[in-house]
Amino acid sequence: MNLVAPQKRFLVTGGAGFIGSHLCERLLEDGHYVICLDSFFTGHRGNLQAAARYADNLEVIRHDVTQPFDFEVDGIFNLACPASPIHYQRDPIHTIRTSYLGAENTLELARRLRAPVVHTSTSEVYGDPEQHPQTEGYWGNVNPIGPRACYDESKRCAETLMFAYRSHYGLPTKTVRIFNTYGPRMHPNDGRVVSTFIVQALQNKPITVFGAGTQTRSFCYVDDMVDALMRVMKTGDEFSGPVNLGNPVELEVGQLAELIVEMTGSSSPIIRKPLPQDDPRKRRPDISVAKAELGWEPTTGIHDGLTRTIAHFEEALVARSAPIMATLEPQAAPSHPMPEVRQPAKVTQLAS
Ligand code: NAD
Ligand code: UDP
Repeated sequence: MNLVAPQKRFLVTGGAGFIGSHLCERLLEDGHYVICLDSFFTGHRGNLQAAARYADNLEVIRHDVTQPFDFEVDGIFNLACPASPIHYQRDPIHTIRTSYLGAENTLELARRLRAPVVHTSTSEVYGDPEQHPQTEGYWGNVNPIGPRACYDESKRCAETLMFAYRSHYGLPTKTVRIFNTYGPRMHPNDGRVVSTFIVQALQNKPITVFGAGTQTRSFCYVDDMVDALMRVMKTGDEFSGPVNLGNPVELEVGQLAELIVEMTGSSSPIIRKPLPQDDPRKRRPDISVAKAELGWEPTTGIHDGLTRTIAHFEEALVARSAPIMATLEPQAAPSHPMPEVRQPAKVTQLAS
């Protein structure tokens, strides 16, 4: 029994997902009480295994954010939304509803509680950007009817809603734009580039670089992202965002493939596949606002972050124990069986 009163109560929507589970863990470590609300569309209870050591302060509730919800909390982190292209494109209407209705239901609760909301938007609001690096003042270049639109446009609209509740009701909403984030607990079959390349490399399967591989992304390690989200929640009511959160070190996708092959000691060949429609050609955050307003910048280099992520996938692939398998199956999402591991290559430790 927990005899010490927790510091604060937080609701984390999407708390069983990749970033959400790390955030829940960090809140619990800091002594807070956490209500994790999740439909388990792409997340799963297994992600909360580490957080479960704080079971007295953790409630995990299965709920779809497209339906209203009601709790007594001091603050809300809104993360519920599939984030990988293959997941959010599978049922575009559900993605739009999750993003928009999830934001509205979050805001209605926050309005009743007069509680702050940290809302996780995305670098996808910039689309295929014509400004580089991207500052928060850039309005973006999004195809409103393309395959990525269900995510991009609903995230843009959710941002609009955050600012409407702020101006209309004086609610302390805080919008963050997350750039590509990676780390342990990414779904091994979600098609995102870091998890895909690592799993392919560990299985000595071909590494699938889309297009020429010259498109760029900037990769932020998940611990840095969680640190930023915590800082945003601690800001005063006047802090609205939007604020870019990401690592400004930019890599070509082809370079990332080579790095992962080298670090895993894999024998995987690098092969080319067609570039998906509307795939952004470049992406790098300008994080001046985050530095100035939050005193934040990432501290985990790509080698260090990849080493930890590779170790996670090695363990997950080799273990493949029944309980882990069961939890890795999304319950409402497409079937993503855990990939088979053939001969896992050794992880080469490189200095970051
Ligand atoms: P994730 O898919 O691992 O986590 C999303 C979580 O939301 C999952 O646990 C899923 O089950 C849950 N969810 C989805 N639809 C739901 C619904 N209708 N009701 C309740 N729960 C639902 O993704 P992630 O990478 O952890 O992303 C978390 C948030 O950060 C998302 O809002 C995403 O748009 C944003 N984001 C992430 C990245 C990134 O690189 N990881 C980049 C930009 C923005
Ligand atoms: N990508 C790739 N091979 C893959 C998966 C992704 O070359 O197997 C590329 C993809 O085309 C994109 C980049 O990697 O240019 C990042 O893709 P991801 O889906 O991780 O994120 P997003 O496109 O949403 O930034």
